[in-house]
Amino acid sequence: MPRIKVLPPDLRNKIAAGEVVERPSSVVKELIENSIDAGSRDIRIDLLYGGKRLIRVSDDGSGMDREDALLCFERHATSKLANEEDLFNITTLGFRGEALPSIASVSRVKLTTGLRGSASGVSLEIDGGELREVKDSPSAGTSVEIRDLFFNTPARKKFLKANSAELFHIIDTVTKEAISHPGIGFSLSSGGQETMVLPKASAPRERLMQIYGEEFLKGLAETDSENEDLSIKAFISQGENFRKSKAHQFIFVNGRPIKDSSLSHAVYKAFEGLLPVDKHPVFFLFLEVDPRKVDFNVHPTKREVRFEEKERVYTFVNRHIRETVKKGRAEYAGAFAEPVEIGADGFSSGPPSPVPHAPEGSFVSENTELGYSPSLPFLYLGDTFVATSGRGGLTLVDHHAAHERILYEKFLKRVAISGRHLLFPEQVRLTHKEYRVLIDQKDLLSEFGVEIDDFGHDTVIVRTVPDVMDAGDKRGILSDIAASIIEGVPDGRSLKETLAAKIACHSSVRGKNILNQEEFSRLLADLENTEHPDQCPHGRPTRIFYSLDDLKKMFKRK
Ligand code: ADP
Ligand code: MG
Repeated sequence: MPRIKVLPPDLRNKIAAGEVVERPSSVVKELIENSIDAGSRDIRIDLLYGGKRLIRVSDDGSGMDREDALLCFERHATSKLANEEDLFNITTLGFRGEALPSIASVSRVKLTTGLRGSASGVSLEIDGGELREVKDSPSAGTSVEIRDLFFNTPARKKFLKANSAELFHIIDTVTKEAISHPGIGFSLSSGGQETMVLPKASAPRERLMQIYGEEFLKGLAETDSENEDLSIKAFISQGENFRKSKAHQFIFVNGRPIKDSSLSHAVYKAFEGLLPVDKHPVFFLFLEVDPRKVDFNVHPTKREVRFEEKERVYTFVNRHIRETVKKGRAEYAGAFAEPVEIGADGFSSGPPSPVPHAPEGSFVSENTELGYSPSLPFLYLGDTFVATSGRGGLTLVDHHAAHERILYEKFLKRVAISGRHLLFPEQVRLTHKEYRVLIDQKDLLSEFGVEIDDFGHDTVIVRTVPDVMDAGDKRGILSDIAASIIEGVPDGRSLKETLAAKIACHSSVRGKNILNQEEFSRLLADLENTEHPDQCPHGRPTRIFYSLDDLKKMFKRK
C-alpha cells in the first residue's frame, strides 16, 4: 500500500501559513503590500488587541470584481505574474499568490471589494479557509478584515506576545512600508485610538520628517547618486550622530524593506575608524536596481534578496556612503582648518572671520603675547593637549590621538612603512597562544613593517619594526598585538584594520614628547589630509573646536 499522499489544499495552506504568517505584523505587512500593489493612495489599518482580535486594512486601490474576489483565496492565485519571464522581472511587492490563502487558513476573514469606479461590489466571509458567505456589497477599494488569528492553530497562538509587544511589531512594519512609499498616506488606529497618521508626502525626506521629526533629520546627511542601472538615495549619520543600537537602520530595494548583512557592512565600512566602540550609525538606504538583476524570490516573506552582481552593488553603496561621510567631515573641518593671520596689533587681519571683533584679552592676543609664531600660535596644556587658534575659533588637539589617526591611515594605505632593521634581532618569549597567533599572522605583520621569525619554544625573533615605532618594550607590543588578534575583530572591521590601529597606537607620539613648532604644524597638516581627521582609530576625538560663538555662549555673552 502506498504511504505517500498529496496533502489536501487546506493543509498546504496551513503549512505555507507557518512561513508567511508568524504574527499579526506579518498579516499587516502582506495586506499593506497588496494595497500598495493595487495602486492605493491611502491605506488605513485598524487593530484590536495588538491585532490578535482584529486587523483591518482598507484601501482606495483598484479593487477586485466578484470573480477575482473569489479567486484570490486560491493557492498560487495572483494577478502579478503571467509567465515565467515575469518571475525574473518583478516590479510588484507580491507575486507568490500565497498570502491571502495562508492567512485565510488560520483566521476568520471578511473581504469587501469593488472595482474602482464601479457602483457594485462583493463581500465574502471565510472561516479557517472555508467559504461561508458571499453577498453583494457596493464598495470602492478593498477592505480585508482578519479576526481571531490562529484560532484554529493553538500552538501558534501560544507564541504570541502581549498585545503591546504585537502592536510594536505592527508599528515597525507600518513604519517601514510608509518610509518606502512616501507618496501613500497611512493611518493606524489601535483600540479605537489614532496611533499613527501619515498624510501623503512628496519625498522620502518629508516622510522621515513626519515619522521622526525635524531634530532627528538634522543629524542626517542626505545624498543621491546613480549610474546606468543602479541608483541610491540615502540618509546617514552626520557628525557624531551615532546611536547605541541598530534600531534606526533601514534598507529598501525597489521599494521593498529588506535585510541584507552585506549592504549593512558596506555602510559600516564607510564609517570605519569613526565609529566609537559600541556605537552604530543611523542609515536609511533607498536602492533602485534593475529588477532583472535582483531576485526577490529567496524567502517566503521576501525579506531577503539576491543580487546578481553582489559585489558591484556593495562597492557602489560603500563608495557613495564613504564619499558622503568624507564630504561631511571636510565641511565640518573646513571651518577651522585655516590658521588666522595675526596682525601687528595681535588681532586677526584675516579674511572673513569674526575674530577682528574679538574683545581685548581674547585667546588670539594671549597667544601672540606668548611669542609663538604668528602663523600658527599654539600652546601645550599638560603634555598631551595642544591649544591653537584657527579661523574663527579655538581648537584643542590631542596630539597623541591625532598622530594615531595619521599613522593608522598610513598603515592602511601602506605608504612609507618600511621596517627598520634592528641592529641585533631580538628574541622574544611569549605565551603559547600569543606565539601561535603571531606566527599565523606573520605575513600580515610584515606588511606593517613588523618582521618576525619562528624560533620555536614559544619564542619569536624580531627582525624589523616599523620605522615610526617606539620599540622599547617589544614583548609588551607583541603581546598586545596578539591579544587584539585573539579578542577578535569588532563589527565591520578587518583584521588588517584592527592591527593597523594597534600598531599606530604603539607608534604614535607618547605623552612625554613635546612637539616643536614645525613638528606641530606638520602634524596638523598631516591630520588635515587624512580621511577622517576628527577621530582616532579608536573613535576618540583628535581635536575639538570651539567657535567664537561657542566661547561667547560659554562666557554668557550671548
Ligand atoms: P500576491 O500578492 O502574491 O499576488 P496574495 O495572496 O497576497 O498574492 O493576493 C492574491 C491576489 O489578490 C493579488 O494578486 C491581487 O490580484 C488580489 N488582491 C489582494 N489584495 C488586494 C487589494 N487590496 N486590492 C486589489 N487586489 C488585491
Ligand atoms: Mg500579496
